[in-house]
Amino acid sequence: MLDEPEPHCLRDSAVERDQMAAQDVEDLLAQPIRPGAHLALDAAILARMRQAFSTGLVRKACGGCGWHGLCSTIAAGGYRDTQVQRPALPGKR
Ligand code: SF4
Repeated sequence: MLDEPEPHCLRDSAVERDQMAAQDVEDLLAQPIRPGAHLALDAAILARMRQAFSTGLVRKACGGCGWHGLCSTIAAGGYRDTQVQRPALPGKR
């Protein structure tokens, strides 16, 4: 939790997970995934990424993660009731 004195989400392990996840996606999509990069998603890319997650192809970062069960359940359910939301861009609504 972020209200803990040393939230694990802010520790090096979270940075390492982010790097592993980015590398997985980079390998899958054959395009650089760097901080600040914009990834243009369409239905085909999203389906490909979801399939890769469901089969474990892009889950190197998930080992030992406390959310593993939840994320696996969501994937096993076909991502039902999940949403992908466009991030708000500065100065735009
Ligand atoms: S299990 Fe879920 S929260 Fe944890 S690293 Fe994998 S995708 Fe992220």
